[in-house]
Amino acid sequence: MTHETSGEALEALLARGGDDLIILVDQRLRIVRAGAEAAELAERPEGALRGMSVIAAFGSASLDAVARQALTAGEAVRGEADLGRLGARQFAVDAVPLPDGGLVLSLHDITTLRRVERVRRDFVANISHELRTPLASIKLLAETLSSGSVEDGPTMRDFATQIEREADHLAQLVDELLDLSMIESGETQLSIEEVNPAVVVEECVQRIRAVAERSGVSVVTQEARGNVATRALADPARLGQALLNLAHNAVKYSHPGGEVRIGWEAGDDTVRFVVADDGIGVPQGHQARIFERFYKVDRSRTRAPEGDLGGSAGLGLAIVRHIAEAHRGSVGVSSTEGAGSTFWIEVPRARSGTTE
Ligand code: ADP
Repeated sequence: MTHETSGEALEALLARGGDDLIILVDQRLRIVRAGAEAAELAERPEGALRGMSVIAAFGSASLDAVARQALTAGEAVRGEADLGRLGARQFAVDAVPLPDGGLVLSLHDITTLRRVERVRRDFVANISHELRTPLASIKLLAETLSSGSVEDGPTMRDFATQIEREADHLAQLVDELLDLSMIESGETQLSIEEVNPAVVVEECVQRIRAVAERSGVSVVTQEARGNVATRALADPARLGQALLNLAHNAVKYSHPGGEVRIGWEAGDDTVRFVVADDGIGVPQGHQARIFERFYKVDRSRTRAPEGDLGGSAGLGLAIVRHIAEAHRGSVGVSSTEGAGSTFWIEVPRARSGTTE
């Protein structure tokens, strides 16, 4: 490449203004040219970068290292650098030596990519963790049975029941994961219709009552508030599933003798479904995070979820939130630790059917 053409190529590169950020430095790593985006990244006024060293301008040791490597080697080097405030953004960096000394640094923002990778890694780690506990129990129980060390019938049956329960937990976990991934990926098509909130509430009450009674918890229907002729715009099956998840939790985190109240309220633009309990409550510091997938409040505080109520993978509320968002609705909680919780899910209100 001749001097001329490399200069022209460089100008073309600088003018391209694509996704990449281009910085030109001399052989002492002082900035010769950098655009507005580079100045923004360095949090300095445009034009202030000229003449500054790369390390002084960006405060990024990793960017400086890639540039130095390319200078020393005299050939193109590819690396990664943390830039921006507190190094919060990640960039793929190409440092390409110029024939007349100096370098072209081409920076490509990979912050989102890295974040997605991190989320995926966490997700796999969380799933592995959730699968390991029931699998370890099943293995231990089955090994004990097959070793012949348990001979009396009732104990053997008890072990078999425990294996069954753990297998149910695994099946529930897999179902929840599938549900979540379908909703998240937008593969689940909602079939939105005008639904009578009272019917949704009543179905939920019917479905949860038997389970609740086995835990010594009673379930009541709360009287509707607002215009009772209001209809919700929702997919009844999905909305029912979300409400049932909330009801399940309400029972699961209640004390025997507790009461779960399920009801609805008509708002101006929305219909709000409410599930209230007088159970253990959610500590203030956790309330903002419980709708994240796999998030659980310290389990040692809770009554061990048993039998019909299934395991505790921290996915139930994430599913509720996704269902609400798929409806362009929202979810929320107000709770006092030790006194109880009120969870709600809001979906849009239908415009017709509002006359009393
Ligand atoms: P899990 O499968 O653990 O119940 P969820 O996503 O349904 O997962 O709930 C997340 C966490 O929120 C639970 O682990 C629990 O600590 C807390 N939580 C949910 N509902 C209630 C409730 N009604 N009362 C108290 N804590 C609750």
